[in-house]
Amino acid sequence: MAEGILIRYGDLTLKGRNQKYFVKAINTLIREKLEGLPVTFDFQHDRAYAYFDPSFFEQVQYQLMYVTGLYSFSPIYRAKKELDAIAEIADTLIQEETQGRAVTFKVDTKRADKTYPMSSMDFSKELSRVVLRKHPNLKVDVHHPAYVLHVEIRREAAYLFSGQIMGLGGYPVPMGGKAMLLLSGGIDSPVAGFLTMKKGIEIEAIHFESTPLTPIESAQKVIDLASVLSHYAPRNSLKVLFVPFREIHEAIMMQTPPSYHITIMRRMMVRIATQLMKRRDALALVTGDSVGQVASQTLESMSTIQSVTDALILRPLTSLDKLDIIRIARDIGTMEISNRPFSDCCSVYVPENPSIRPQVSQASTYEKSFDFAPMIQTAVEQTLIRTFHPDQHVDLAMTAFTLQEAFLEDA
Ligand code: ATP
Ligand code: MG
Repeated sequence: MAEGILIRYGDLTLKGRNQKYFVKAINTLIREKLEGLPVTFDFQHDRAYAYFDPSFFEQVQYQLMYVTGLYSFSPIYRAKKELDAIAEIADTLIQEETQGRAVTFKVDTKRADKTYPMSSMDFSKELSRVVLRKHPNLKVDVHHPAYVLHVEIRREAAYLFSGQIMGLGGYPVPMGGKAMLLLSGGIDSPVAGFLTMKKGIEIEAIHFESTPLTPIESAQKVIDLASVLSHYAPRNSLKVLFVPFREIHEAIMMQTPPSYHITIMRRMMVRIATQLMKRRDALALVTGDSVGQVASQTLESMSTIQSVTDALILRPLTSLDKLDIIRIARDIGTMEISNRPFSDCCSVYVPENPSIRPQVSQASTYEKSFDFAPMIQTAVEQTLIRTFHPDQHVDLAMTAFTLQEAFLEDA
């Protein structure tokens, strides 16, 4: 069993100051994710080592999969600084990795302990010779080996590692600043949130809720999604801003033509989200839009929605296929939650034939049929903020009709 892990950082092509921020941010995340586990760290400028009792290996590995910016890691095995002891562990590692296949390999030795009697080169040769005796199907290739066995000889012991487990990659949050994620209960927006965090951008979520027009379970979905996403966030914590949207929702349904309902609803959401973004000191909005999936996601439709704001809108899913999105949703554990049958404001009461090519001029004209500015202001003022964590589950009272009520009962 491994008693340590070598952690490799992500995109270190970053230069100068950025690289320093990167390392600082990722080290903070590593500490946060492993908090509570008996781990000792050795942080270096381009990598980190974590040491622990072998019985904690699974837990450490599990937590590291939530560190954004982490490129890969390798389990480390410890041996006495004697050839026999090192060869014994090498043997097990090679067996695991090659499964008896005929592959090329090399031993790569680093000597931090310069008092060790053998040079790195000699040690590599000597260990290779022992390995070959046990694994005659292997062949040494020092230039392009398929498999490298790393040995580090330090003062206290020798450390061996080989193979690597890929991490999330990307950049550590919150290195890239903060954005507001428009989070529905659907499949797409949680994935958009995950991909945004993977790029090092911290998110706060905004959910437009129309209870009791929509079932309280739809709000519960958002809470559960937030809880899953919070595991990737700095401090394992994610804020959700719940915007009371029912009045605006109803006004749109009563006062505007059905073919423009979705467009106008989205425009109202973006107006509100823009105000909240500024209040929360964020620099962009993020949505789960993906081109061409549904009527509301044609280029015409997106432009008509976008025209109500000067905010930067990130759409990390634009070029992904639905199947790719679903695969990510399954991997990160949001799929099951998104798949629960309860609809949010945008899938309930959807018109039968939404306009595929909505125009700005039309949308603005239709919006004049009700006085939306004060409604938007009220919604912004009455927005509720809650914070969620990975393993602290918040269950809404299902007997409540509105989210406000549910939160009150909860308090
Ligand atoms: P999703 O699966 O994320 O719901 P979708 O494919 O169903 O996306 P739409 O319903 O058209 O697409 O929504 C497009 C985007 O608008 C969503 O990805 C989300 O970012 C935002 N959005 C829609 N409804 C809400 C809501 N009730 N609260 C917050 N954001 C929303
Ligand atoms: Mg949706």
